[in-house]
Amino acid sequence: MDLPILQDQYRRPMRALRISVTDQCNLRCGYCMPEESYTWLPRSRILRYGQITELVRAATDLGVTKVRLTGGEPLLRKELWRLVEQLAAIDAIQDLALTTNGVLLKEHGADIFSAGLQRLTVSLDTLRPERFKELTRRGDLSRVLTGLQVAQGLCPTPIKINCVAMKGVNDDELESMLDWALTEGFELRFIEYMDVAGATAWSNAQVLPREEILDRIAKTFGAPTPAPKDGAAPADRFHIEGRGSFGVIASTSSPFCGTCDRVRLTADGTLYTCLYSEEGTDLGTAIRAGHTREQLAQQLAAIWTQRKDRGAEERLALADERGILATASHLRTRPGWEMHTKGG
Ligand code: SAM
Ligand code: SF4
Ligand code: SF4
Repeated sequence: MDLPILQDQYRRPMRALRISVTDQCNLRCGYCMPEESYTWLPRSRILRYGQITELVRAATDLGVTKVRLTGGEPLLRKELWRLVEQLAAIDAIQDLALTTNGVLLKEHGADIFSAGLQRLTVSLDTLRPERFKELTRRGDLSRVLTGLQVAQGLCPTPIKINCVAMKGVNDDELESMLDWALTEGFELRFIEYMDVAGATAWSNAQVLPREEILDRIAKTFGAPTPAPKDGAAPADRFHIEGRGSFGVIASTSSPFCGTCDRVRLTADGTLYTCLYSEEGTDLGTAIRAGHTREQLAQQLAAIWTQRKDRGAEERLALADERGILATASHLRTRPGWEMHTKGG
């Protein structure tokens, strides 16, 4: 199909599709799922793998070349490798990645990599077992570390580690985590604590901004050298002489909406054009009704060309007024807005 390159209202192309395959999670990280109970997506509306793949094909017709599977916890989805295999067979997808908390990597690593997964990001905020249990409210650090070992022997590209750096929570581990990652050959990325929907315990006082992270790293490892910026990628990358690279994702203090080419699909087929947007567009009904690839591409194009989102920049402009984005009771009526539903 020959469609012109699609641009939104700020001339941003649509290149990257993040697919949340489930809103369920086996952890309860305090910055993402701090509540005791949640409104879950109805099982009957969860898209099947073939339906997701059809939507991805339509997205590639409009310029999408990167797909990331996320959640909730994507490895909770039964036989995820089947979806990976279907997506890996789409020629236009140049980059097929997964973000996971790593708890189930030992069990599923072999399946997903032999099905064609190209890149892996594992979220890990501490290397202390007791702290891990406390921060995730149920996790066992040793499972993640074993999963990482298994994945390292299988992943065709260097594994990335996402670490949400929070003042007074895990900021005493910046240096030790980076040292560990550099030694093990992982690319660690420190992420600023974001005030996304679901982060109902967020406070500006707990955000550790990029400059403070870099100052701390420089004191222990020497001044890191900035690496060339990789297009629309969210991380600022740095190199430490003789050791390797790491990144900082300054989404809270220094947003990168200007180059944002990402779009998100929830497990029930709702499309969100911004991590911060409360409203999505229901494509699930059309997908389940069997709309063709061409029809789905037209619907996607109509949404993208109207896009004006700059969520993180708008939040930054609030300055001292910035508080939590949404209360837990409001989110109970809008589950699609939650970070664990929309995917990170
Ligand atoms: N469960 C998987 C995992 O944790 O990797 C995938 C989904 S999770 C929502 C994706 C990413 O979002 C994780 O790296 C997580 O650390 C990040 N995240 C969630 N809430 C966040 C917040 N309030 N601020 C910054 N990052 C957050
Ligand atoms: Fe933690 Fe990811 Fe689960 Fe959120 S979705 S609670 S970040 S493991
Ligand atoms: Fe993109 Fe929205 Fe994130 Fe800005 S806040 S980078 S527009 S997803």
